[in-house]
Amino acid sequence: MKLYNTLSRKKEKFVPLKKGKVGMYSCGPTVYWYQHIGNLRSYIFSDVLKRVLLYDGFDVKQVMNVTDVGHLTSDADEGEDKIEKAATKEGKKASDIANYYLKLFQEDFKKLNIINPDVWPKATEHIKEQIELIKILEKKGYTYETSDGIYFDTSKFKDYGKMAKLNIDELQEGKRVDMKEKKNKTDFALWKFSENPGERQQEWNPKDYGVDWKIGFPGWHIECSAMSSKYLGEQFDIHTGGEDHIPIHHTNEIAQSEAAFGKKPWVKYWLHGYFLTFGGKKVSKSEGGLYTISELEEKGYSALDYRYLVLTSHYRTQMEFSLENLDGAKNAYQRIKNLIGSLDKEGEVNSKYIKEFEKAIDDDLDMPKAMSVLWNLVRDEKAEGKIKTIEKMDEVFGLDLLKKEKVSVPADIKKLVDEREKARKEKDWEKADKLRDELKEKGWVVEDGDGGGKVKKIEKR
Ligand code: AMP
Ligand code: ZN
Repeated sequence: MKLYNTLSRKKEKFVPLKKGKVGMYSCGPTVYWYQHIGNLRSYIFSDVLKRVLLYDGFDVKQVMNVTDVGHLTSDADEGEDKIEKAATKEGKKASDIANYYLKLFQEDFKKLNIINPDVWPKATEHIKEQIELIKILEKKGYTYETSDGIYFDTSKFKDYGKMAKLNIDELQEGKRVDMKEKKNKTDFALWKFSENPGERQQEWNPKDYGVDWKIGFPGWHIECSAMSSKYLGEQFDIHTGGEDHIPIHHTNEIAQSEAAFGKKPWVKYWLHGYFLTFGGKKVSKSEGGLYTISELEEKGYSALDYRYLVLTSHYRTQMEFSLENLDGAKNAYQRIKNLIGSLDKEGEVNSKYIKEFEKAIDDDLDMPKAMSVLWNLVRDEKAEGKIKTIEKMDEVFGLDLLKKEKVSVPADIKKLVDEREKARKEKDWEKADKLRDELKEKGWVVEDGDGGGKVKKIEKR
């Protein structure tokens, strides 16, 4: 299997550190607000990656963090803590805010058929691990203290910004930013001191963990290094996230982890999902502008209509969202499900089509190609073993392709069915036949089985 590695900017053959096993870390949500369908595109991407690895027989352990403290509104270690801000605004406990949005997020996962990660660690439940990691960095001489926190000195880490191909000299000389007491523009906070201790809801006293720093809270980047190493070891196979994480968040994760653990590379394969755009713009959660799954549902789309849409574009291209595109996806998805619903179940897995499918998914998750293989198979009148083949493909698509939809019967149809039942009971066969024809005209076929009174929608081909 080949995966595009952001470290090398090349497709590489995937070879795990331990034969047959894969350790995978996916940067998870900051739980202060609804996840929009852009965020969710990133998680459909990591889900597809995980499903392909499982399909290929790997034993996968996936960790996805939940950021419930320390993510500030500005990437420059300034501004407010997003969770604290939401808690103040809504007059709630920070943990209630986090739990509320995490629950909604997990419901979206379920609706989207995203397989749950094996571990969902929360940043607030790993304060000790984060402090321990900062202690190591301090001991190795990578940190310094300012009046507002403990910082990572990026000039001490030789390869800083290598993955993002950052030009540090240019960055240093470039546009003026308020550095406060930072030594380099790229330095970042590992531990932030509370401005007024006692005011924040979530803060910790490092003295409880044997260090002398002031009361405060962890920076955003350190949680990912601390929690990934706890659950996956100091070096692991795959790290995923959105493309926006390349220049700062992941760059900082690499710096602090390689500095602390001394393993190079800390993570072998870095994979990034590209953005969903709306009106040509990249939209972030804080700006709003993209729908949530519930909003799409209110408009009559299902979560799986959206999953289908996402699978029609490659994860390494940006995808412009519009309701017209979603309409197209919804129709195509309905159509293929209807077609599949009328296939016969005979035959074993079709080797020609499954090989083509495997070639596509193993080529850096080429899902648009895999989808076209599926369509070709369904349309190929001579192909055998369609159902078994589709069942196997759906392990990766996750589209419930073989699941029969419960079709709700509209009120007017139900009325006709009841009338017909009545006519039958009264042995008025003529009327019953007339009603059956009327139903057929409206696209419904009556099934006189046990009990009778059942109708089925006629599948259009
Ligand atoms: P956040 O909860 O803001 O930390 O974002 C969660 C994830 O969604 C991150 O991995 C981001 O990279 C990703 N993300 C944010 N906006 C988009 C977007 N418009 N399209 C795709 N992914 C996004
Ligand atoms: Zn992260």
